[in-house]
Amino acid sequence: MRSVSDHQDVVAALFSAPEPERISAADALGRVTTTEIVAPIGLPGFDNSAMDGYAIRAADIASAGEDSPVRLPVAQDIPAGRTDHLTLAPGTAHRIMTGAPLPDGADAVIPVERTDAAVDVVTILGSVPAGRHIRSAGSDIEPDQPAIPAGTRLGAPQIGFLAALGITEVDVTRRPRVVVLSTGSELVTPGTPLEFGQIYESNGPMLTAAATEAGADATHLHYVTDDVDAFRARLDEISDDADLIITSGGVSAGAFEVVKDVLGDAGPGDVQFVKVAMQPGMPQGCGHYIGPSGRRVPIITLPGNPVSSLVSFEVFIRPPLRAAIGLPPRRPRVTARLDADVRSPAGKRQFLRGVLRETDDGPAVDPIGPPASHHLRYLSRADSLIDIDADAESVPAGSLVEVITL
Ligand code: AMP
Ligand code: MG
Repeated sequence: MRSVSDHQDVVAALFSAPEPERISAADALGRVTTTEIVAPIGLPGFDNSAMDGYAIRAADIASAGEDSPVRLPVAQDIPAGRTDHLTLAPGTAHRIMTGAPLPDGADAVIPVERTDAAVDVVTILGSVPAGRHIRSAGSDIEPDQPAIPAGTRLGAPQIGFLAALGITEVDVTRRPRVVVLSTGSELVTPGTPLEFGQIYESNGPMLTAAATEAGADATHLHYVTDDVDAFRARLDEISDDADLIITSGGVSAGAFEVVKDVLGDAGPGDVQFVKVAMQPGMPQGCGHYIGPSGRRVPIITLPGNPVSSLVSFEVFIRPPLRAAIGLPPRRPRVTARLDADVRSPAGKRQFLRGVLRETDDGPAVDPIGPPASHHLRYLSRADSLIDIDADAESVPAGSLVEVITL
């Protein structure tokens, strides 16, 4: 049996380094920059008021106070959005709103709260030092300064920053096109009545969601039955348009293992089927599929049991997929105290579903559900995977274990 870390290396070798593409900044949420973005303009672009109030010369109101008001004629009204250049004459004030351009000659703003708010002659009841309540040009960023480093995942703050800088296009890593294809003659699409012996197809939606969450451009195909011609025809159809094909089912030791039957020994490509020393998820396969055009598409064939499928995705696919997008590959790990005794098969690394909680002594983890790999309920409740060493056969409650947070 191949070790988990050896199989991780084999799967990772199917992925290539991130490739850039230029896209609209408006569509760039979640994408990762490939170049440093430099500010084309300064922010703010002009000196402007930080308050609603009056633009003045600080010296003109230096003596103003509650008991010694200073009165200044209001020569202009400057709402935000005025685009003409104004000059403040000595001994006058301009009524000014937050974000409006400061007139030349003004060196401070007195907030409206410290005045009588008049529009013709304003009574000012306090002083301010020069420079107060002014947002000076370039104080956030100067033109040509680095704005966003390469390798940044663009979230709401960065999308806002790009827009403020007037940037409409960004260079980001391409999202790999992942196509998910489930196999199984027992499968039925949710929404259709079940006959005896049939089950709803759940791996397809689940793996598509997992790949999307990881940052890929994932598509879920309608499943195929355990029919070699149907499976092969489907692979041929998608082989020109996918960067990665993920299949589920049809790779274990039984009969009618359609994935193995098509991709095994004499199959079109170099897919290898191996047993990996882990639970769940022992039967694995990966390699390339060669389509009718001769294009080699990486393909990863996951086991059909839902828990095995998702745990395999987490352990083998998510890290290199994220790396290929330029995202941090590893989930955060914590060391936690085990709440219950755990048994583990000899020689197999076990990934148990867990629920983490904080205690006064640090994190603790509750192993939930049986190890069997068809229990979706426990999988859906788990917030973590407990990573049990291959050589451990039993781990008593209270032991410290490595936990992958999901
Ligand atoms: P297989 O690997 O094809 O032998 O399937 C192993 C188990 O997983 C069987 O109980 C299948 O019914 C189940 N299974 C396979 N594919 C899916 C799927 N797409 N959705 C839900 N269960 C599946
Ligand atoms: Mg099957």
